[in-house]
Amino acid sequence: MTVTECSSAAARSRPASPAQQALVKLGLTRDIDLALHLPLRYEDETRITPLRNAREGDTVQIEATVTASEVQLRPRRQLVVTVEDGTGSCELRFFSFYPSHQKTMAVGARLRVRGEVKGGFWGRQMLHPAFRKAEGALPAALTPVYPTVAQLPQAYLRRAVASALTRVELPETLPPGLQPPLARFDSKNGLQRLWNLREALLFLHHPTPDVALATLQDHSHPAWQRLKAEELLAQQLSQLTAKRERARLRAPELRPQPGALALHEQLLGALPFGLTGAQRRVGEEIAHDLGRSVPMHRLLQGDVGSGKTVVAALAATVCMDAGWQCALMAPTEILAEQHFAKLIGWLEPLLAARGLQVAWLVGGQKKKVRAEMLERIASGQAALVVGTHAVIQEQVRFKNLALAVIDEQHRFGVAQRLALRQKLQHDGMEPHLLMMSATPIPRTLAMSYYADLDVSTIDELPPGRTPIVTKLIADSRKTEVVERIGAQVAAGRQVYWVCPLIEESEALDLSNATATHVELSEALQGVTVGLLHSRMPGAEKRAVMEEFKSGRMGVLVSTTVIEVGVDVPNASLMVIEHAERFGLSQLHQLRGRVGRGAAASACVLLYSTGDSGRLGETARERLKAMAETSDGFEIARRDLEIRGPGEFLGARQSGDALLRFADLATDQLLLEWARELAPVMLDRHPDLAQRHVARWLGGRSDYLKA
Ligand code: ADP
Ligand code: MG
Repeated sequence: MTVTECSSAAARSRPASPAQQALVKLGLTRDIDLALHLPLRYEDETRITPLRNAREGDTVQIEATVTASEVQLRPRRQLVVTVEDGTGSCELRFFSFYPSHQKTMAVGARLRVRGEVKGGFWGRQMLHPAFRKAEGALPAALTPVYPTVAQLPQAYLRRAVASALTRVELPETLPPGLQPPLARFDSKNGLQRLWNLREALLFLHHPTPDVALATLQDHSHPAWQRLKAEELLAQQLSQLTAKRERARLRAPELRPQPGALALHEQLLGALPFGLTGAQRRVGEEIAHDLGRSVPMHRLLQGDVGSGKTVVAALAATVCMDAGWQCALMAPTEILAEQHFAKLIGWLEPLLAARGLQVAWLVGGQKKKVRAEMLERIASGQAALVVGTHAVIQEQVRFKNLALAVIDEQHRFGVAQRLALRQKLQHDGMEPHLLMMSATPIPRTLAMSYYADLDVSTIDELPPGRTPIVTKLIADSRKTEVVERIGAQVAAGRQVYWVCPLIEESEALDLSNATATHVELSEALQGVTVGLLHSRMPGAEKRAVMEEFKSGRMGVLVSTTVIEVGVDVPNASLMVIEHAERFGLSQLHQLRGRVGRGAAASACVLLYSTGDSGRLGETARERLKAMAETSDGFEIARRDLEIRGPGEFLGARQSGDALLRFADLATDQLLLEWARELAPVMLDRHPDLAQRHVARWLGGRSDYLKA
């Protein structure tokens, strides 16, 4: 990085004014940061429109002389200034004004005024137009309007950016001959030349008035293309660097010991079913990684119910067979219990036969229990450690951890995942990492945000599943739905009823679920209706779940806690109340709780239009997507479309690392170019690569490694 690029505009002058502080707050500290702070839109001050040609509704700039100025008191206090330019006249009205304004607009003054023309009974008018003395030549370029905050006046920001642009050095970092193919740039406009960064930035801050504004708005202009290509390249470089750094780390090679434990074989034998082809394939991919001395960093994705847990269990046995410890983590306690209960049921006896144990680590454990668990983990007596992220807290010392499995990884934030990887390092060795997600990552996201990740996909459901019918029903027809529940239960089936989280308030959440529980109990005489919510003590939750699993309970009312991997094949109806309040992937997960057995299953999305009488745009799109498809990949693609990558990734912390300029939906070609170039650049032009990343990411590149 050159000195100029990292010199700080804010550091040069102090003490800091509110505007300077606002600059820092917006992250606009280096000259390059200011240079990359691009306008939201532009104002055209390059032309003067004669008043005669100014039509109602046009936003124009006029140059005219003040012929009258007075403060009127009725209908309310206002300054009315009349101007004439020889072709016509116009009234300027200001409802708030200072004496200085009156002075500038004194009779005889020559002004440049910019605003929207309104025609009125009294002739042409402008309300609160921008004005200044008519001095000097007209600007040659459009005037930028930047995104800003209240403490940071537009004019101040304009000066700061303009001055940064004069200082900032933008040496070419794209290696000669490896620039994005020109054909991929704006072929429409016939601009067959790659813009350099300086040129592109100067243009985007101060475009010439002849530019087609639409190409600036939709970012298709060659200057934008250059910027997006740069940004995507920076992202790919930093991801690839992280991946290569990881490849230099070492991890235990987990290979079966000759003649030793064969948990893996035993587990396969104990399973009540055979693996699907997809499970076998991903199982092999994982086992192959585990056998290498480089830490695995793999995402296992597969739709809800595709059988990821078994694959994780098999990976755990590979690890334990090699004589190492394995940790399984889920984002919440109940998730940990639900997801891993079966697996532990299979593994515990096998481990016990060898004098090994399972240790649980969750928040809120009794001190004594916790101490005992920590002891088991430290001594290595616990071959398998299961829990929430309590597992990675500092006091936890493993004897020899070699594999960490994270279920529902998308619910861990980026920062948490980063912490996890750092905490698990010991003796220069890092454990293998397997992350599981039922929210498949669309290809473009995988290429850009998870470039540092290998992906295994289970693309096949276990046999014998029946498709789920999804119905959207207005909550005014709730009674019909309740009748249908009665019929299902009478036919020996079971039903989930999910109540939403209300405005993130646990108390309301609870009262709503409780009320529904009472309501359904009354409506469904003779049916056992259970209640499950987040405030219940663990033992009580378990008891309720047990009763539902056993089939004695016909209906289970719950808050979203069952989003968790509850597995009751006899459940054939899922009712989601206020479905419009749920996110798309959450709805998909919930729906996946039914259709696990042979019976035909249905999911009812009860929606409420509230007082407005209609659903919001995104809520409608979500519900429509749910009704139209049950393919997790398609759902994820639509979710990305509706929410954008920032929210899709579910980690607000990662917001900084997200793309500012490029758009994954429209810039796939550039993304592919950047992806191909990144390795070449790191190998052949490491200096350029480093400079490029520093320019774009400054100190933020760490987040991209998580
Ligand atoms: P998810 O991928 O959503 O975590 P689970 O691992 O919970 O899915 O599996 C869903 C259900 O399918 C469980 O009851 C599990 O025991 C069962 N299952 C997993 N693999 C198979 C298989 N190959 N054949 C039949 N059932 C299976
Ligand atoms: Mg699961």
